[in-house]
Amino acid sequence: MVTKRRVIKGVSISSGIAMGTTRVVHPGFLNVAEIPITLAKVKPEIDALEEAVRETIAELEHLRDTAGKKTGASVAKIFEAQLLIAGDLDFLAQVKQQIKTRRRNAGFVYNTLVNETIRALDNSPDQYMRQMVQEIEAVTNKVLSHLTGFGEKSTARLPDNTILVAQSFSASDIMDYRSRRAAGFITAEGGSNSHMALIARSLMLPATLSNNALSQIPNACRVIVDGTNGKVIVRPSDDDWSEYLKKRKLQGPAIISRIKKLEEIPPKTADGVPVNVAANLEIPGPADDLLSDARIPVGLYRTEFLYLEHVDFPGEAAQFEYYSRIAERFANTHVILRTFDLGSDKVKDDGLMPAEDNPALGWRGIRSMLDMPQIFKTQIRAILRASTLKNVKILLPMVSDVSELRKAKKYVSQVMLELRRKGIPFDNDIEIGVMVEIPSAALTANQLARDADFVSIGTNDLTQYTMSADRNNSRVAGLYSHFHPSVLSLIHMTVMACRRHGTPVQICGESAGDPLALPLFIGMGVSGLSMNPTKIFDACRLIKRIDFEMVRHLVDPVLASKSVAAVVRKLQNYRNAVEGK
Ligand code: PEP
Ligand code: MG
Repeated sequence: MVTKRRVIKGVSISSGIAMGTTRVVHPGFLNVAEIPITLAKVKPEIDALEEAVRETIAELEHLRDTAGKKTGASVAKIFEAQLLIAGDLDFLAQVKQQIKTRRRNAGFVYNTLVNETIRALDNSPDQYMRQMVQEIEAVTNKVLSHLTGFGEKSTARLPDNTILVAQSFSASDIMDYRSRRAAGFITAEGGSNSHMALIARSLMLPATLSNNALSQIPNACRVIVDGTNGKVIVRPSDDDWSEYLKKRKLQGPAIISRIKKLEEIPPKTADGVPVNVAANLEIPGPADDLLSDARIPVGLYRTEFLYLEHVDFPGEAAQFEYYSRIAERFANTHVILRTFDLGSDKVKDDGLMPAEDNPALGWRGIRSMLDMPQIFKTQIRAILRASTLKNVKILLPMVSDVSELRKAKKYVSQVMLELRRKGIPFDNDIEIGVMVEIPSAALTANQLARDADFVSIGTNDLTQYTMSADRNNSRVAGLYSHFHPSVLSLIHMTVMACRRHGTPVQICGESAGDPLALPLFIGMGVSGLSMNPTKIFDACRLIKRIDFEMVRHLVDPVLASKSVAAVVRKLQNYRNAVEGK
């Protein structure tokens, strides 16, 4: 662990600056709220603690006995050790004493004392002692789940400027912690295109990836998270602190508010070619009003985050209200609502969307929706009902080929018929588009472009599937690049197919806002780019400096490149020329 000032270089996950105190979240740990209790509540809390410990011991004895039979003595020994920890009378006496003196709920006191023990062990030079941490965590999880109800999560507000540190965060973790006012995140796992990253960015929560976060960043320690540069300063100096206080004022919402200065939407290239610039959104957030005031459309609304906020698929009424609000907020422009893209790292193991061995290749996106037509049709009905302003479009995620588009369209027609019969209004001419984010879709883009009203290229997934490199796995991050000639060829193939059919085509993966990639996409002839709102201002300014006739000629040499490095070199040369370097 670090004991003096240290700068840890990592990877930017979500830009912005957070300054505060760390809270290390151990994997799988339940979050236990701190609840003050009255004197009368002390005894019931102690009784509940004793009951939870009894249940934990019974559970562990059962595990020890069954594990002993199935796998032999070494595994049974682990549970022996855990039984000793769970039944540690001295420790339990301390917890009870503190429930009485501090008048706090049992779960909170238990968890706090465990954390203190763990911190001491974590710093121990003895490897055996450090290993004990895992056993203690496992027991604590059991006791706390018995005490608080399984899986129950705290909703208590975190102390101001809390920066969470963990091995990994899921997208829903970020949402939970955001509602508890977390200031920033440091994660040891997850790529910059992970859904955790997307949600952190859309909420403008600074986040940095640092592989050794858990071993280098202690709990309760002052840190600065420089999400823009992917840097963490542990125990910063006073000079660091005052420098970053100044920098922080220019980050976050300030970046988006620059949108107000944009004069021309859509922006045009220097030689007059308009490029539709749109925003990717996930949930209502701080950017919405600024975007709609500037008449910036929503090129991708990831509706699955509505599901992630609920414990179940939200009903038609809730969805209708949600989509209507979005359509109204962007009444002066349009919104592309993508149907639920659940699965892969967005999945919750909740029985309805089961965890899978190979989820990225599993039952996700349109696949699961076509298998659950009631859920799909409910969403379509809600979207159609919210389309009366005629500014809503439907986008289907993870389409493998045209047969899936046709099946989905059939369901849409059925819902339209039902609505017409009931006299419920909707936009009869609503457009239905497809995401091209699987190589099979890109390779058959000609068929998709003929049948779809528009196409949106999802380069985040297209890159992961083309390169067979998990977008969240930092070990293969070197392979995961939208600049790989194979990925660019598939993008180009898709754009060409769309242009042949006169079908509008946009890029909506994170690459759309990449200043190096953007001129190339314009050169290929895309009609639009949909990106994270923080990227819009710079993208619009760049577009104005681009000469379409010039970038058209970038395409062939770039596609003929043999490596990512060669592609980047050519694009960088172009950029230097534009910037007059
Ligand atoms: C993509 O895959 O590029 C995309 C935009 O979809 P998501 O990031 O939500 O998977
Ligand atoms: Mg995708």
